[in-house]
This record gives sequence, C-alpha cells and structure tokens, in this order.
Amino acid sequence: MIIDLKRIFVNENSSLDIEYSLDLSSVEFAGVYPLKKSVNINGTVSNKASLVRLEAVITYEYDAPCDRCGIDTQRKQTVKVDKSLAAAIEGEDSDTILLVPDMKLDIDEFIYSEVIVSLPMKHLCKDDCKGICPKCGKNLNDGKCDCPEKEIDPRFSALAELLNNNELST
Ligand SMILES: [Zn+2]
Ligand SMILES: [Zn+2]
Repeated sequence: MIIDLKRIFVNENSSLDIEYSLDLSSVEFAGVYPLKKSVNINGTVSNKASLVRLEAVITYEYDAPCDRCGIDTQRKQTVKVDKSLAAAIEGEDSDTILLVPDMKLDIDEFIYSEVIVSLPMKHLCKDDCKGICPKCGKNLNDGKCDCPEKEIDPRFSALAELLNNNELST
C-alpha cells in the first residue's frame, strides 16, 4: 500500500494514524517461512514544526523450528520505529531519515525492510535448550539418553583395556 503524505507534509500540526497488516508468509528465511501470521504496524505520521515523523510499532510472530532441537517455536517480535521523513535527502544521509519520494510512503516495502533486519539471528525454544543427541536423536530437554557421554576413540580402546587390566593386576 502506498500512503500519500502530502497532506501531512504541507500542513503543520497535522497527523495521520497508521494501522495496517501485511502478509509476509511467502518470505523465506534460512530455509523456512517464519512469518505465518500477518505483520502489523501501528503508529502515527505527524508534522510538528515542519518535521514530519513516523512513530510506530511493528509486531510480528516468528514461527520456526528451534535451532537446536527442531521443535516448532513461536516468538513475538516488536520493532519500535521512530523516523524523520524527508521527501528528499538534504545534507547527511542518516538511518533515522526515511526517504519518501513524492511524499509517498510505500508502507509494504518499509515494513518488509524493518522486519528483515529485526529477524532473530538465533531462535531457541528456551535459552538453555539442550538440543538433540547427535547419536540417538533424543530430545535432551526430555532427559538424558543412554548414549555414553564420551566416545572412546577406537584407536585407544585397546590401550584403555590394557590400562584397566593393569589396574586390576596391581
Ligand atoms: Zn530447542
Ligand atoms: Zn543419545
């Protein structure tokens, strides 16, 4: 959706509430489609003393398997947005300035870019997820498995046996 902000740009003390949902369920990230539910934005564009500002909160749910154990895990994400809007960049380029050519804001593109940079780098079902055993595949959050804690290198097993025998004989 394109939002025409000309009315806001030319009228001091004017404002526009934004409440919008965007479907990003077809966006792939790290091999999965984590944005199964729509992404919401809630905020206001306002003109105060000729400074046009977008203040908003973007909320979405990140739904993907846990990085360690693979169990489906949902996490709510909130992105706070506070940007000055400019129809043209004057002076220094800054990431607090959002360029809106022709005073038109492409809200879909804006939400998309804000969501992409805020996606969690690490996605765990809980901070201390123990993952799954690489040998038997058991989810170690449900308890330990019966696999030996440490694998003895087969090249040393004969030596280990020898040492054990020595211990017995002495
Ligand atoms: Zn996990
Ligand atoms: Zn195991």
